[in-house]
Amino acid sequence: METVALNDVKVVAAPEGIHGAGFFATSLDKVVGLARSNSIWPLPFATSCCGIEFMATMGAHYDLARFGSERLSFSPRQADLLMVMGTIAKKMGPVLRQVYEQMAEPRWVLSVGACASSGGIFDTYSVLQGIDRVIPVDVYVPGCPPRPEQIIDGILKIQHLIQNESLRRRDSPEYKAMLNKYGIE
Ligand code: SF4
Repeated sequence: METVALNDVKVVAAPEGIHGAGFFATSLDKVVGLARSNSIWPLPFATSCCGIEFMATMGAHYDLARFGSERLSFSPRQADLLMVMGTIAKKMGPVLRQVYEQMAEPRWVLSVGACASSGGIFDTYSVLQGIDRVIPVDVYVPGCPPRPEQIIDGILKIQHLIQNESLRRRDSPEYKAMLNKYGIE
C-alpha cells in the first residue's frame, strides 16, 4: 500500500490575521469563510451532457475531494452549492427554482456550460435561455462542454466568493432586494 508522507499533505493557508509568539488572531468572518469554502456540499442538477463532465470531475483523476467537495447531496436541504449542468427546458424552470428555494442559506449557484448559462445552441421555444432567468447565479462556467478543469476553476471561484463573504451579507437589504427581483422571499 502506498503511504503518504506528512509533508505531502497540503493544508489550506491560514486567513489574514495578526500573529505573534503563541497566538494568532483573526475575524470570525474569515474563520467561518475558511471552514465553509473548504467543505462545500454540492447538489448536482445534471440534465444532459455537461453532467458527464461533472462525473469525470468527481473521478479519481480530477478528484473534487481535494477541495473538500466530495460529499454530494441529493437533498436540497443538505446542500449549499447548486451546480446546474445541462440544458434546462422551460418546463424544468419551476423545478429548478423549487430546489433552490428548498436550500438553506447560505447557498451558492454554479452554472456549468453554455446551456445552463444561456441556453447554448438551443435557441428554441422550449429551452430556458439561461438559468439566471429563474434563480440568481454566482459563477458561470463557459464551454460546450466545459472540461473538468473548467468546472474545478468554477468551484475555486465559488470558494473564493465564500471565503470573502461577510456573515451579514445574507441579511443585507441589497441581498433581499436581489432575491425579491426573482420573487423569492
Ligand atoms: S453546454 Fe454543450 S455539453 Fe453542456 S449540456 Fe449544453 S450541449 Fe451539452
